[in-house]
Amino acid sequence: MFFVAGLNPKLKQIGNVAGECPACGAKDKLFLVRQRQALSVFFIPVLQFGGGYLATCGQCASVMELQPQAGKRAEQDPGTVLSAHEMQVVKNNAGPRCSQCGRRIYPDQSYCPGCGQKL
Ligand SMILES: [Zn+2]
Ligand SMILES: [Zn+2]
Repeated sequence: MFFVAGLNPKLKQIGNVAGECPACGAKDKLFLVRQRQALSVFFIPVLQFGGGYLATCGQCASVMELQPQAGKRAEQDPGTVLSAHEMQVVKNNAGPRCSQCGRRIYPDQSYCPGCGQKL
């Protein structure tokens, strides 16, 4: 059986804004998008992201959800600087990395998936 699920991202790219990443702490550029819709399963939307703002860190590639006011502010004023407390990490890509190859590692792994080094 086919499981037909899809993200229907009607994303509006807002662009880069300055901000502090709550995941890695970098004060760098965050790439901002506004998300309008809907995760659909069998073409039925099951999850609505009603106008949420998402930011991706230019350093660690973590994904953050912005508070709506903060997102709106950044959309209207590209000179906005977002602070870490105005967003919530939804996908944390910052974290320990292999000392040998630099690949992201997770606490449940005992060997690096990149180079096989024992962790
Ligand atoms: Zn980051
Ligand atoms: Zn490695």
